[in-house]
Amino acid sequence: MKNCQVSIVVPCYNEDAAVKAFHRALVAALEPTGKSFEVCYVDDGSEDLTRAELIHLAAVDERVRYTAFSRNFGKEAAMLAGLRMSCGDSVVLMDADLQHPPGLLPRMMELSRHGYDQVIARRDREGEGALRSLLSRSYYRAMGHFMDVSVVDGEGDFRLLSRRAVDSVLSLPESNRFSKGIFSWIGFDTTSFTYHNAQRVAGRSKWGSRRLLNYGIDGLISFNNRPLRLAIYGGLLMALAAMGYALWIIVEVARNGVGVPGYTTLLTAIVALGGIQLATLGIIGEYVGRIYCETKNRPHYLIRETSEQPAPAAPTAI
Ligand code: UDP
Ligand code: MG
Repeated sequence: MKNCQVSIVVPCYNEDAAVKAFHRALVAALEPTGKSFEVCYVDDGSEDLTRAELIHLAAVDERVRYTAFSRNFGKEAAMLAGLRMSCGDSVVLMDADLQHPPGLLPRMMELSRHGYDQVIARRDREGEGALRSLLSRSYYRAMGHFMDVSVVDGEGDFRLLSRRAVDSVLSLPESNRFSKGIFSWIGFDTTSFTYHNAQRVAGRSKWGSRRLLNYGIDGLISFNNRPLRLAIYGGLLMALAAMGYALWIIVEVARNGVGVPGYTTLLTAIVALGGIQLATLGIIGEYVGRIYCETKNRPHYLIRETSEQPAPAAPTAI
C-alpha cells in the first residue's frame, strides 16, 4: 500500500500468543480515526508460530505487510527493517505485546498534527520489579552525565515519527544501532506524554539482566568517547597521586632512613594500577571492536521472505 497516512511498525520475536490480539486492538483503535493506515510487522527470526500468524494476517487484511528475518537479529534491526518498509506520512513504533496501548494512537496523531516530528509516549514504572526500576533510574541518571544526547527514563521506542524524522533515522548508516540515542540525536520538535505502564499480554520479556546490561554498555559507548576521556583523566590522576606518594617516601627516607619495606602499600599500588589499566584497556577494546564491526559493513539483517515477495521454494537436494 503506497502513501497511506500512518504506518505502524511492529517488531515481533516469539509473539505468536500476542500478535493476533494486538492486531485486533490496533485496528479497533485506528479505524475510528478515519485515517488510512498500514501495519508493517517484522518477524525477527521467531522460533514459534509468529511467522505463520503474520502470513495469515497479511492474507486476511490487506493493510498488513510483513518481513521475516533469516534468524534473530535483535529488536534494533527489526525496527530498522520496519522503518525501511514503511511508507506512511507518519510512522509509529510499537511492541507486539500490548505494552504499548493502541488506545494512545489517536492522541499521538493529534499531537503530531500540531507540527511535532516526534511524539513520545513515556511510560511510568508502575508494576515493575523494585530492583529493576531502581537500576534503570540510576542508569539514566548516570547516562545524563556521560552522553552527548539526552535519553530520558521511561522514554522508549513507543513513539510517532514524521516522515522527515524517519528519513533522518534511516540516513544514519551505523551497524551498531542504539535507537534511543539516535532518536535524540536527530532532533526536530519533540513532545511527550506519560501513560501507565501495562504488563505484557502473553509470552515473556526477552530482556534478561545480561541483555539489559549489554544494552546499557551499548548506549554508553555508541554516542561519544567520554569513557575514553574518563580513562585519560583517571590515569593522570593516578600518576599524580603516585608522584606525590614517591615524594613523601623520599622525604621519609631522608628523615628516618630506610625502615621496614612496605609490602602492603606496594601490593595495593600494583593491584590498583593493574585494575585501572585493565579497565582502560577494556574501554579501548570496546571502541576498537566497534570499529571492526563497522568496517565489516555487513547488512543489519537478512530477509527470509516478505509479504511483497513470498519465500522462494527451498532448494532441493540433487
Ligand atoms: N523483540 C524483537 N527482537 C528481539 C527481542 C524483542 O523484535 O530480539 C520485540 C518483541 O517481540 C516485542 C518488543 O521487541 O514486540 C519488545 O520486547 P519485550 O517485550 O521482550 O521487551 P520489554 O517490553 O520487556 O522491554
Ligand atoms: Mg514488552
